[in-house]
Amino acid sequence: QVKELGKNNFQFYTPEMNEAVTRKMKLEIGLRKALEREEFTVAYQPQINVISNEIIGSEALLRWNHPEWGLISPSEFIPIAEETGLILPIGEWILKEACLQNKEWQKQGFEDMRIAVNISSRQFKQSDLIDRVKKILKETGLAPHHLELELTESIIQDSKHAVEKMQQLKDMGIHLSIDDFGTGYSSLNYLKTFPIHTLKIDRSFTRNIFTDSKDASLVETIITMAHNLNLKVIAEGVETIEQLQFLQQKQCNEAQGYYFSHPISAELMSGVLGGRAEGA
Ligand code: C2E
Ligand code: MG
Ligand code: MG
Ligand code: MG
Repeated sequence: QVKELGKNNFQFYTPEMNEAVTRKMKLEIGLRKALEREEFTVAYQPQINVISNEIIGSEALLRWNHPEWGLISPSEFIPIAEETGLILPIGEWILKEACLQNKEWQKQGFEDMRIAVNISSRQFKQSDLIDRVKKILKETGLAPHHLELELTESIIQDSKHAVEKMQQLKDMGIHLSIDDFGTGYSSLNYLKTFPIHTLKIDRSFTRNIFTDSKDASLVETIITMAHNLNLKVIAEGVETIEQLQFLQQKQCNEAQGYYFSHPISAELMSGVLGGRAEGA
């Protein structure tokens, strides 16, 4: 039996696995050309102050629209970009694009608008990260306090000198948030040492506020703990008014999710902002 397994080793390689590998290779080849072919766009999802109900900023989310394959989800292509290192030029592109766009909204009169950009592990590990961010701020004219960088717990844990780097960014005036908070495995002890401004509660907790009482108490606990540490809290994935009301009641500061808006194009966002500004 064992011998037979050994001989037929290739059988462990199922057609499904083969397909997955082929798709991955195909996407990798596509990704290598996507920047120069201008196949990326940025979608913006509004972030709302749950007390004033005002849009305080937005999160920039990468979209890849391939001419033949159509829209490909970031959860599929970001890991490939990360693995191949392509995330470095791509990440730099979206950072600049998002800063420029935010500056544009500010020029249109939405002066306090902030832009949040996701930073990947490879990007964060770059030794010249700080200079690169500085350069982009200078080129786009965006004030550092209007930029927020989203880091995950694992990105911080995997990087050497993470706290020093974060401190440098904070000293520049940039805001830092912990994305998908609660899904990592880090000790809570680190929270007091991290120079951050905001915790983003992962949407897996938001989703189950009314179906899982443990998730509800976790959300409540995260908010209380964050406030005790002088951190702000934003909830991801708010889809219903009931979830929003729960968060308001628990003094969550900000929210983001389909209840308010899906991620939308810059043009649509300008319209949404304009509508709000006219104060209807
Ligand atoms: P994330 O940073 O946690 O972004 C939030 C994700 O949740 C987005 O998915 C957004 O479209 C989705 N979302 C927002 N509101 C709701 C809601 O109410 N319900 C549900 N079910 N989903 C909601 P998206 O755009 O597909 O991005 C997935 C992930 O890909 C992001 O998660 C982030 O980790 C990564 N990503 C996206 N853009 C970039 C980027 O420019 N750079 C890097 N490094 N990663 C990115
Ligand atoms: Mg994010
Ligand atoms: Mg998130
Ligand atoms: Mg998430």
